[in-house]
Amino acid sequence: MNSRRKFLHNTLLGGIALSAADLIRGSREILEKSDKSASPVVIATWGPNTKATAAAWDIISKGGRALDAVEAGARVPEADPEDTSVGYGGFPDRDGNVTLDACIMDELGQAGCVSFLQNIMHPISVARRVMEKTPHVLLTGEGAYRFARAEGFPHENLLTEVARKAWEDWKVRSEYKPVINVERHDTIGIVAVDQHNNISGACSTSGAAFKMHGRVGDSPIIGAGMFVDNEVGGAACTGLGEMVLRTLGSFLVVEEMRRGASPQKAAEAAIKRLVRKYPEQSKVAQVGFVAVDKKGRHGAYAIHKGFNYAIYQNNVNQVFESDYLLKKPD
Ligand code: ASP
Repeated sequence: MNSRRKFLHNTLLGGIALSAADLIRGSREILEKSDKSASPVVIATWGPNTKATAAAWDIISKGGRALDAVEAGARVPEADPEDTSVGYGGFPDRDGNVTLDACIMDELGQAGCVSFLQNIMHPISVARRVMEKTPHVLLTGEGAYRFARAEGFPHENLLTEVARKAWEDWKVRSEYKPVINVERHDTIGIVAVDQHNNISGACSTSGAAFKMHGRVGDSPIIGAGMFVDNEVGGAACTGLGEMVLRTLGSFLVVEEMRRGASPQKAAEAAIKRLVRKYPEQSKVAQVGFVAVDKKGRHGAYAIHKGFNYAIYQNNVNQVFESDYLLKKPD
């Protein structure tokens, strides 16, 4: 069990004496309550990202901007060597290179993205610079790296011993095939609504473990890994990027909310769409969405059991187990 899985196991099944059903029920109660309580709120994929939601909350609870909050949040797992799916410590591609993808979007609909970025610990901050300092939306590979260096980001070796060892082990068993399964999806997708009722989002990942060199997933693509619209709400996701890329999943969630769906129903609609379109791949691949609307209501949904998410709202930072579509008979 990798460290994140262990954390989830301990947190959800040990530390907090609540069953998954309790957690889902609790989440729904918060959902009901959050109908009345407006923003601010921060939501992020995966339970261990409570550290990220805390960093984001620190900013919005003092009246700061959602954009600053989501950037600060994403920087937490990016710098954490124990997080094997984001930034420093991320598992490498099948040739041993840690390649990073990230995107950020603000309340004005401005966006910045980097993909296939190497040796820079904070791709989310580079993405923000792309948004704020260039006429472009997406920089990739060597060009993104050169831009980051010119902006003063240090060159760093991001491959930790643990990740290198995992890669060595993988090579023994893998037949050089990229991993496609329900495990090992720990990307951070984070969306915040601030006290001014403005919405921003960010997403950062080292992508699918042991992917082909040059592979880019959904996470740096606006509308796929993350999307916000200040009139409506925002969504972000984790999971098999290829399925999300083909469906522009986060955009779909926001558009469902635009048509009147609650964040929960919107996330459910997107997952149902994915599963309907890719029934075979859905059996072996995980995707999970988080969503929040302008009122500060939120929701989450996944294909399979095992997705969870962190929410900071009303001064409480909590982890909830997401409901999911493909339920196996007991
Ligand atoms: N969505 C990411 C990607 O496909 C991976 C993940 O969430 O674990 O690159």
